[in-house]
Amino acid sequence: MSAPYILIVEDEQAIREMTAFALRQAGYHTQEAVDAREAQSLIADQRPDLILLDWMLPSVSGLELARRWKKEELTADIPIVMLTARAEEDDKVRGLETGADDYVTKPFSPRELAARIKAVLRRSAPEGNDDLLRANGLTLDMASHRVTSARGAELEVGPTEYRLLKFFMSHPERVYTRGQLLDRVWGSNVYVEERTIDVHIRRLRKALQPAGYDALVQTVRGAGYRFSTKV
Ligand code: CA
Repeated sequence: MSAPYILIVEDEQAIREMTAFALRQAGYHTQEAVDAREAQSLIADQRPDLILLDWMLPSVSGLELARRWKKEELTADIPIVMLTARAEEDDKVRGLETGADDYVTKPFSPRELAARIKAVLRRSAPEGNDDLLRANGLTLDMASHRVTSARGAELEVGPTEYRLLKFFMSHPERVYTRGQLLDRVWGSNVYVEERTIDVHIRRLRKALQPAGYDALVQTVRGAGYRFSTKV
């Protein structure tokens, strides 16, 4: 397989060049764009495996671009990592809600960036080689529908909570509103009140609690829920 292609969209030359250098060192193939127009034409030439997108760009912001790309069929599946100078939790949530897969706050080390990109690429790989989802030792086996702790103890998870956990573990580090969870886990044809989500979240945490994994299911105030291994 050839090296993954990463499109870097950043207007600040120094950061752009440093980033491109670091990613090439890490074995990636890179292209650089200074604004939305250049990025668009590079994407039309060749579909990137991942887009590294600066939040603050001239004319069209990175946030607006992420929103557009996630809506268009051609680009909807390309993972996006946002580069941001803002460290406010609200902005992170806003960034992730527009469809960004992760964000890296400036200043960042090239090593950190490469690690985050690697993680996002791994998550977005089309088919996993096995049927296991893992997070901090918590393992969900899609073949046997078993959920086990790092010590191998089986956790008792109800059928709805299992589906919820499977969705969360396949889409970590992203905030989902109750409405989105209903659509993705229950299906958009099923009528369930949004409050029902809270009940199942509570049950899921209770099921994970004996092994200490309940903290991975996080409430994001005013937004929804997120599955995260970061505190
Ligand atoms: Ca910028």
